Amino acid sequence: MSFPIPGQAAGIDAGRLAATLEEYAAIGATPGGGVTRLALSDDDRAARDLLARHLREVGCDVLVDDLGNMRGVLQGAPGYASVHIASHLDTVVRGGRFDGALGVLAGLEILRTLHERDIRPGRTLELVNWTNEEGARFEPAMTGSGGATGAVAASWVQDRRDRDGHRLGDELARIGYLGEQRHRPPIGHACLELHIEQGPVLDDLDRPIGIVEGIVGITWLDVMIAGAAAHAGPTPMVSRRDALVAAAEVVQAVREIGTAGEPPVAGTVGRFEVQPGVVNVIPGAVRMSVDFRAPDEETLHAMVKTLRRTAQEIGARHSVDIDVQQFWTSLPVRFDPGVVERLEAACAAAGIEPVYLWSGAGHDARHTADVMPTGMLFVRSRGGVSHCEQEFSAMEDISIATTVLLHAALALASDGINDATEEDAT
Ligand SMILES: [Zn+2]
Repeated sequence: MSFPIPGQAAGIDAGRLAATLEEYAAIGATPGGGVTRLALSDDDRAARDLLARHLREVGCDVLVDDLGNMRGVLQGAPGYASVHIASHLDTVVRGGRFDGALGVLAGLEILRTLHERDIRPGRTLELVNWTNEEGARFEPAMTGSGGATGAVAASWVQDRRDRDGHRLGDELARIGYLGEQRHRPPIGHACLELHIEQGPVLDDLDRPIGIVEGIVGITWLDVMIAGAAAHAGPTPMVSRRDALVAAAEVVQAVREIGTAGEPPVAGTVGRFEVQPGVVNVIPGAVRMSVDFRAPDEETLHAMVKTLRRTAQEIGARHSVDIDVQQFWTSLPVRFDPGVVERLEAACAAAGIEPVYLWSGAGHDARHTADVMPTGMLFVRSRGGVSHCEQEFSAMEDISIATTVLLHAALALASDGINDATEEDAT
């Protein structure tokens, strides 16, 4: 058996990867240069069919599980856990051409590179295309990876419905991608996800790639403020129970709590409803959402605690009742130090000094990190924008990232196998 030493890994073909990115961006292309490829749409099927063909061309078996997750399997040494390269091909409405697709197609480029140079990886390599990462059609997001890793029940995932009432499981069957449970991606030796940054850190630092330290914890709260609606004229200012005036202070408090920590700590009020919403009536009720993000659970808890305490103070001052309900939380995850080390070594081999950053957004890697050693690599996003047609990453950066991904994947794939072969050789 032959396998490469990571530092000597073959270079990828950037021109071929650029052409492949174009080829997939044409599926669901929007007039503004972006892509609409909603999960389990006809365009998603077309992209999946193309990926299946491309995977078979490089000697991979293509398997589909009961959640529609696809994987191309390049066989390595038997009896060793596989190394996964994973991301997603679905997009939001009028999204970009890089979010998700880059991670899958960089993985395809790696498989093509190995194939044309006749390099067998030590461990089996698996390229995974997760179903419905975006949650743009079927809420919530990341249901393919969540279902496969046990974060949520597969039957619950299959029962998700889009706005027109179409069931996820039925749509999988309709496009021909309802596979078998036994084909779910196995617990691997490691999982790597390459993704665009979707934020401005790398662009601001003028750096092509970054190693992701972890994915922030996110918690969502529902804040309900009950005051008293009354006439805007005769009611004296001093005796009002104005829910909106109190709400304005809560919004300000959320901003202050978000600003008190270093990034990626953040606090956002994204939804805001005023009742009754009439020009000459003092607002009697306000309901708003709060989104808190932090790299560790303690900070996240502290932010919620501060909000609750501040809300009580504000409520008392304005004679209104403020109810704060925490209704959804995704705990933060720190990526595996061993995988991060491999990414560092791969950066060094490519002559790149790594930048470290946190992901402020969720990714499938959040779920894989719960069941196997996982790491992520970010590519610079121009202007930090994503989920829009203007999303852009330069081929030069993508080429560096894919080379680093190749080196890291091969290094992980030779874990525990290198030594044995060296012994065989001597
Ligand atoms: Zn994505």
